Amino acid sequence: MKITSFTVRLVRQSAEAWYAPRPIPEGATPHFDFPLVSLETDEGITGYTMEYCPLGQGPGTAHQLRDIFAADFIGQDPLNHEAIWQTLRGKQRHLYNVTPCLWSALDIALWDIKGKVTGLSIAKLLGGYRDKVPAYATCPPQSITTVEEVAEQVAMKKAAGYSGVKLQLSGGSALDIPRLRKAREIVGEGYPLMVDSSAVLTFEDALRIGHALDELEYEWFEEPIPDAYILQLKKLAEDIRTPVLAGETVSLFELPHYLTEGQIDLARGDVHHKGGVTGLSKALGLCEMLGYELEIHTAATPLLDVANLQVACGLRGSRFVESHHDMFRFGLKGDPLRVHEDGCQHAPEGPGLGVEIDWDWMDNHTIDVLTA
Ligand SMILES: [Mg+2]
Repeated sequence: MKITSFTVRLVRQSAEAWYAPRPIPEGATPHFDFPLVSLETDEGITGYTMEYCPLGQGPGTAHQLRDIFAADFIGQDPLNHEAIWQTLRGKQRHLYNVTPCLWSALDIALWDIKGKVTGLSIAKLLGGYRDKVPAYATCPPQSITTVEEVAEQVAMKKAAGYSGVKLQLSGGSALDIPRLRKAREIVGEGYPLMVDSSAVLTFEDALRIGHALDELEYEWFEEPIPDAYILQLKKLAEDIRTPVLAGETVSLFELPHYLTEGQIDLARGDVHHKGGVTGLSKALGLCEMLGYELEIHTAATPLLDVANLQVACGLRGSRFVESHHDMFRFGLKGDPLRVHEDGCQHAPEGPGLGVEIDWDWMDNHTIDVLTA
């Protein structure tokens, strides 16, 4: 079996839904252009994947994918995912100015093909550990700028049946501790709440928030300070009882350095940052060996999140999956990332990613096509 073509189409979503009910801020990108990649084969099977883009980088990313990586795929047997993955990793050594996330996403299309050849979902190919995972809802920062909005959003997500709610807050302790308290007051004791500070806090402020989280019994404190500040992460993890979750932005081969001496309590990873289905599987294996959970993170891109869900179901290691803004569930028939009445996302059972792409929708939103 050989890959015969590599196509990237740019699929455009307006950014309006992301900022609603407020207008798109001046200077922010008005569109999210998602690169949708198709790998065709000489046996008539096509594998799909997508790239992340909400910083306005979609067109640039599409060109990088085609111009840098198409030649590594065309002519290769897509069933040899490990061989291709190792080639891409070896090449990364010299691509100093290109993120490994680019080829991480491409690995997913190989698994989609492998599933379609065998008639099995990616979750089954990996190990079939379970068929569903509890999903928590993330409240993006622009949706919860006031304490009243925190109350409203958290109540809405809990009522919608999610298994937990994560707040994305980066106002600092003076603004955020009252919001964190309000969220706990609204959901009551025992309901899983998480907070993600997106790496903006000083160490001292992270400590203040961390002690509040201990009192309020949050499930985890995510990326309080930049992942690069590994020594401060260790101090924080030692000082507070709430688990410190970090490692979202570090690559697969950096992750072990966060785990060997208790620098963090919970690891973070997704198919985009940790090397595709192949790399995230390796990360989960590493964490299992060392006794860590690896919480799978959203990649805010529909096919990447389906791939995250397939890995979360295929292998042990993530208590939850993350359900982000509804606008990242476009273009797939049957809404496979919806949260069911049991508070879980269920892995699609069809072959590969197991999804049916809504080509009418995609065609109506395609603004450019690049081929190789
Ligand atoms: Mg995060």
